[in-house]
Amino acid sequence: MIIVQNKKRCRKLIYIGLLALAVFLVFWAYSSSQSAMATCIFCDIISGKSPTKFEVETDDYVIFKDIKPASDHHYLAVPKRHTESVVALTKNDIEVVNTLESGMRKFLATKGIESNQTLLGFHMPPFITVKHLHLHGIAPRSNMSFLMRFIFKPHSAWFKLVDEAKEYLQNKS
Ligand SMILES: [Zn+2]
Ligand SMILES: [Zn+2]
Repeated sequence: MIIVQNKKRCRKLIYIGLLALAVFLVFWAYSSSQSAMATCIFCDIISGKSPTKFEVETDDYVIFKDIKPASDHHYLAVPKRHTESVVALTKNDIEVVNTLESGMRKFLATKGIESNQTLLGFHMPPFITVKHLHLHGIAPRSNMSFLMRFIFKPHSAWFKLVDEAKEYLQNKS
């Protein structure tokens, strides 16, 4: 009888323990999502808070290596002014896209990377890992894996080539 009661008490303690763990996890997930919202990795990189080697730095943007390269060369051109994505831009911001594009093309040319083997484009929300506008410059396209070709798929709902992005902004009212 005593053993049965002890077993019951033990089970109760385990339930209480699991409940406490669940509550803790919910709060932990909530607080980490809050801090992710408050800080932006790319703003930290640009301000120097998170040391990163810049390949190029101008008054308007920086270019640095993508930490998860999709091919032999993979760089990001990131404007210094925080904007969430292409969707947050207006028709008047096409110049921002032009600046990132010409900067990336010039940089890749200095690396001797052929332009017809280069993929230049933007991810579209909600398929964005870092919510700070960035232009991907990837080359050569022929060395991209099946998965990477999918993630950076031109004309898809989740990725726009630089010209598609300009057309999208042009048609925005
Ligand atoms: Zn930012
Ligand atoms: Zn991206």
